[in-house]
Amino acid sequence: MYDLLIRNGVIINSDGIVNADLAIQDERIVAIGLGLAGRRVIDADGCYVIPGAIDPHVHLQMPLAGRVSSDTFRSGTIAAACGGTTTVIDFVEPQPGQSMLAALAQRRAEAIGEVAIDFGLHMTIPTWHATTPHALDEVPAAVAAGCLTFKMYQAYQGMVLDDVALLRALTAVAEAGGRTVLHSETGPVLDILRADALAEGHTEPIWHAYTRPAPLEASAVHRAAELADLAGCPLYIFHVGCQESVWEIIQARARGIDIWGETCPQYLLLTAEEHLGGLNGELYVCAPPLRTYDDNQLLWQALARDDLQVVSTDHCPWTAEEKRQPDFTLIPGGVPSIEARLALVHHFGVNQGALTLERWVQVCATNAARWMGLERKGRLAPGCDADVVIFDPERVKYIAPDTLHEHAGWTPYEGLEVTGWPRTVLLRGQLIVEDEQYVGMPGDGRFVERR
Ligand code: MN
Repeated sequence: MYDLLIRNGVIINSDGIVNADLAIQDERIVAIGLGLAGRRVIDADGCYVIPGAIDPHVHLQMPLAGRVSSDTFRSGTIAAACGGTTTVIDFVEPQPGQSMLAALAQRRAEAIGEVAIDFGLHMTIPTWHATTPHALDEVPAAVAAGCLTFKMYQAYQGMVLDDVALLRALTAVAEAGGRTVLHSETGPVLDILRADALAEGHTEPIWHAYTRPAPLEASAVHRAAELADLAGCPLYIFHVGCQESVWEIIQARARGIDIWGETCPQYLLLTAEEHLGGLNGELYVCAPPLRTYDDNQLLWQALARDDLQVVSTDHCPWTAEEKRQPDFTLIPGGVPSIEARLALVHHFGVNQGALTLERWVQVCATNAARWMGLERKGRLAPGCDADVVIFDPERVKYIAPDTLHEHAGWTPYEGLEVTGWPRTVLLRGQLIVEDEQYVGMPGDGRFVERR
């Protein structure tokens, strides 16, 4: 007799589908099979039973130029939970002169007691830390503290690493047994294109896309792949949005380079012409920028063929007011989607035939867990954390700001009806969403040390 049994569901893992019951004891999955008995039983008849989704790229209460992104650790993780995500990975951004461990302690303290789901943190290596003697000496200690992954940038003042600094940082991370997640764009050249466009009087949001051409995203990916290979550092490219970058990843993988790519719902579903170039185009400013319909289609194919491995959100929820700015260079970048990701990939991927159910689970949960060092997550198997989503594939959900728990007040997916939505969510065996209602407590989530 087990503590808790999920009965009659269709259990989907990245490597197979079975009709079986799933038994939970304390915080772990203990058995999957037929005819199991439980003191408490949840009936999942007609539903999929899948591992809690992992979103390895979110920005909650992120400080930027005197503002803070609108979802707090509390509201953002409640929204994530309601959308079937049970682990997120956010960021530590050490300030110039600040130690990585001090910054980590500060960021952890902001989240603990607030988060509805488990979380990890990527350690950012800003320009100062990559270029100041001995600042990288702390990398092994950050790895030991559970920050397996290090965020680097090839763009943005204060963050940008030129090729020399990038190689130095990649080498330090590789030697410490860590891994690198990368914002890949040829930033210093984009800065010139942006300044030129402004000087010519172009202020509209569409110029955000015109001044960040895809070949300058792809050439950054190419250089980073070669540098990571030299350093022996596993590399994961964040938010791949264009065909040109996908080709670079395919070719680097063919050369034997240890590189993965992620994309996000906005790159799969939105376009520069329609969204950045349309009404309220400023809402859709994110970097890299939205591209074309052809890019959308190719990204779906790349996900299906394992040329890309993960769908994250890059959830960065600025309000419409914060995004309304006099020119495109002043608009804070990012779009919200922490809640709808799993359902969007199901609706537009699985329902429309681009992805199998197993691949859906793989790109939304299993692969991110594996690459990011979340050993007990992303799978339904004995010994794994009982992070479980009961997903109703027939539920029709109308997406709008007031049907979501996100705080930005707008969503790129307003007005969409998706078929399939999470009904019930468990975090380490505890019910946190029941019949689409959040029933957990802030602080249910824990910091996960990633190895
Ligand atoms: Mn990001």
